[in-house]
Amino acid sequence: MPARLPLFFAAICISLFTYQAGASTSSPVVTPAISAITQTSPAPLTQQSFAQWRAALRMEALNQGITPLLFEQAFAGLSPDPQVLAADQSQPEFSRPVWEYLDSAVSSWRVARGKALLAEHAKTLQAIEERFQVDPSVLVAVWGMESSFGRQIGSKNVIRSLATLAYEGRRSDFWRGQLIAALHILQEGDIAINGMIGSWAGAMGQTQFMPSTYRQYAIDFDGDGRRDIWGSSADALASAANYLRLSGWQHQQSWGFEVQLPTRGFDYALADGEHSMSLQQWLDLGVIPRDSSDARNITQDVATLFLPSGHQGPAYLLLNNFRSILKYNNSTSYALAIGLLANALQGDYRVPSNWPKHDRMLSRQERIELQTLLNQLGFDSGKPDGIIGVNSRQAVRGFQKTQGLPADGYPNEAILNSLRRVAAQRP
Ligand code: CA
Repeated sequence: MPARLPLFFAAICISLFTYQAGASTSSPVVTPAISAITQTSPAPLTQQSFAQWRAALRMEALNQGITPLLFEQAFAGLSPDPQVLAADQSQPEFSRPVWEYLDSAVSSWRVARGKALLAEHAKTLQAIEERFQVDPSVLVAVWGMESSFGRQIGSKNVIRSLATLAYEGRRSDFWRGQLIAALHILQEGDIAINGMIGSWAGAMGQTQFMPSTYRQYAIDFDGDGRRDIWGSSADALASAANYLRLSGWQHQQSWGFEVQLPTRGFDYALADGEHSMSLQQWLDLGVIPRDSSDARNITQDVATLFLPSGHQGPAYLLLNNFRSILKYNNSTSYALAIGLLANALQGDYRVPSNWPKHDRMLSRQERIELQTLLNQLGFDSGKPDGIIGVNSRQAVRGFQKTQGLPADGYPNEAILNSLRRVAAQRP
């Protein structure tokens, strides 16, 4: 069920969340949930005590079929976890550039380990591919990104984490729903209470599924009667395959590829993620695949243009399978990392060209200033919150057009300086 949120500007999303709290928080449903944290809902005026809150939750859980015994066992001696709350509330000042994120995502260690595991689990992966029609390389890439191939599955008690977030965190309804789902999983007997461990945000096992995702998509592939995404790599890989299949994965199709854009007169606003066109239409605009073999056999898909670091960096045409990966984790940097890692696992890694590494990332404070200036100048970027989402990018594009700049919607230091200049010149 991963909630769909607008595509956040990837580098920011990644750095705010994935890396601050460790690899295991980059996970299905976690990213949407965590992204939404920034859209803060007000804290309740009167804070219930934990005991009062627990009593109300117990009633709700029992109404939904949880037994009193299971509830008491799961909540025995349980108190809110201050580390979870701190992780929930952290707002790092600096974001990490997308190229640094990709360097660590598609590291030589991860590629080598992934290749070894592709070989080691070839038989299982082939059986999974036959049943779910999802390519082994993308499954192993997801496995590597979510939990370093099962090495980092988190060590937090999921019930405690979710109870903390539901009690004190922002967006408590979401967490409460996940908590009830987690209780159902325990009651269904797939995992013991002390085995249900995960990230601080309740993402579980080698696939880092949230409890609601688990209930909907997890698979018992090794046939022991339990859907064990913690201890069974076969179950985890099949669960990821089931998720991607139901998110529209097209077997043996590409996720996208790097392209070169015309050097003159190209409308960078076409890379806003809204413009879907056939591959031929993109080619007609002068967009050229970096490797001519990439465009072969792609006839029925529509593609969108993606500039991960603005017009100065590499450009990608994205196909349907990229959108399936985004349903796993709604971060464009994450999906790009999965795509590039999957390619690398097949021995086909193409280092993206021309990252604008001279371009310093804006700090959170600067992003807020950028949004404030855009608003002042009549380009609606929404409430200044330091998160560069769809509205902010659209506002940047509007400003860039009035200045005769490439309208890529990418907020960097040069754009911030232009905004400052224009705002200062205003009467
Ligand atoms: Ca199993």
